[in-house]
Amino acid sequence: MTTEPASRRVPLIRIEGLRKSYVLGDVTVHALRGVDVEIAGGTFVTVVGASGSGKSTFMNILGLLDRPSGGRYFLEGEDVSGFDRDRRAVLRNRKIGFVFQNFNLLPRTSALENVELPLLYNGKPYSAGDRHLKALGLLEAVGLGQRAQHMPNQLSGGQQQRVAIARALVNDPEILLADEPTGNLDSRTSVEIMEILQRLNREKGITIILITHEHDIAEYGQRVITFRDGRVVSDQPVEKRRDAAAELSALPALEEEATA
Ligand code: ADP
Ligand code: MG
Repeated sequence: MTTEPASRRVPLIRIEGLRKSYVLGDVTVHALRGVDVEIAGGTFVTVVGASGSGKSTFMNILGLLDRPSGGRYFLEGEDVSGFDRDRRAVLRNRKIGFVFQNFNLLPRTSALENVELPLLYNGKPYSAGDRHLKALGLLEAVGLGQRAQHMPNQLSGGQQQRVAIARALVNDPEILLADEPTGNLDSRTSVEIMEILQRLNREKGITIILITHEHDIAEYGQRVITFRDGRVVSDQPVEKRRDAAAELSALPALEEEATA
């Protein structure tokens, strides 16, 4: 955190002329063909587009998992486009959390341990007790305090995604990137996940960038960016934003779950 007034005018994310090509033998795939986007801190942005339009490539660059072939990526005003793997990893662990379609939890590892794990790599000296408390607090925040000792295969898809969200939050990221987080979930469970994400954005000010190919999911955000063939073809505010908490309270209550 800096106290320089000038830095507050810098957008959290500024992308200019972003390009990414993959060379596979004789073939070059142009996944991103010049993307310009600014994202202010604290917003909830959704990214839509057909399969293959470059959404995941865009997210991998935003999330510092990959680097662009061309163009610039400014994160809080700093040009990170040329950062090598190590510098990207340091920045990523400090600022960015990820949620994926397939949850990506470690098998045969409890929900609690899955959430604790990133704390081991963040360079801060947390004691085992502190890690435990922090992870448990986050599991409680996503409604899974009672399931902390369950293994992923003992949890439903929606519960696994909640664990993944808790894990993504454990290093207090400013940015949460979610690639098709509801892609494997039924519609009610999807609304439950969107309720958590909207709450995190509203209450903690976490910037959320969520990829989806479902237009109704995109309407939980404030702004929709549409990709086609590696380009942004539209970037618009959501006119009637959906409110997941209100929708859930209007749904009939589920029967009490039988818990082990
Ligand atoms: P989306 O997430 O919108 O489905 P992607 O960003 O995954 O799109 O892919 C965009 C294009 O880049 C596609 O043509 C895809 O096949 C290609 N692509 C993505 N990742 C790689 C990779 N690691 N190597 C080669 N081509 C890739
Ligand atoms: Mg994708």
